[in-house]
Amino acid sequence: MSKPRVAIFDFACCEGCQLQIVNLEEDILKLIDVVDVVEWREAMSEQSHEYDIAIIEGSITREEDAKRLEVIRSRAKILIALGACATIGGVNKIKNNFDSNEVRECVYGEDGQMPHLNTYNTKAIDEVVEVDFKIHGCPIEGSEFAQVIRSLLVGKAPFVPDYPVCVECKARETICRYEYNEICLGPITRAGCNAPCPTAGWRCFGCRGLVDNPNVDAAKEVMDTYGLTVDDLKQKMVLFNTK
Ligand code: SF4
Ligand code: SF4
Ligand code: SF4
Repeated sequence: MSKPRVAIFDFACCEGCQLQIVNLEEDILKLIDVVDVVEWREAMSEQSHEYDIAIIEGSITREEDAKRLEVIRSRAKILIALGACATIGGVNKIKNNFDSNEVRECVYGEDGQMPHLNTYNTKAIDEVVEVDFKIHGCPIEGSEFAQVIRSLLVGKAPFVPDYPVCVECKARETICRYEYNEICLGPITRAGCNAPCPTAGWRCFGCRGLVDNPNVDAAKEVMDTYGLTVDDLKQKMVLFNTK
């Protein structure tokens, strides 16, 4: 039986999620044994138009990127969005809160109006094409990537938690960041990371995106309990969860 052909592509991003794949070390060698990697700019020079699984890192910020993505989608049987930039638009969506000309000028100064720097509001991958599976996080967890690929290879749908980070955080018996007067996005953010940020003394920044049906009432209750407002919460959501 021939091995599934896998191609990895990147759009607007820092490429940190691809780096997490490279960092898998021994595990990546085991995966490479069971798939045929036919294109991966970060790791090889070969290219191919024929693949079964396309893995997409990054967000879409230009018309030409959307067209390229549509072509990739048409060639792939399965398309996976890799990391927050791809799954939810991630930090790239912060710019959607500002006027596009202002953003270009802020980054490139007078050159900002040059045609090759044209850009539009950031889109997550599923705002442009259909996505079959998402691997969340900024960056992704390498072990979760390996789990998703292994599941697909044996014909199983990968497990993606649909409960909040608080569940994992409480299981680790971490003192809640609200007790330190901080706004943590754990109550509405999708779990799967094992709550490393609260455990390390940081609030959850929401990098895995929202759970499918965030318990808004419970979140409001938490805000009330600590004398905070929903606007305070929304402000913290700008980093990873701008629409
Ligand atoms: S999700 Fe984070 S680590 Fe991954 S490419 Fe985007 S910015 Fe980089
Ligand atoms: S620190 Fe954050 S993730 Fe942990 S329990 Fe509190 S709100 Fe939830
Ligand atoms: S705790 Fe929150 S910010 Fe930290 S990795 Fe998990 S989802 Fe991302």
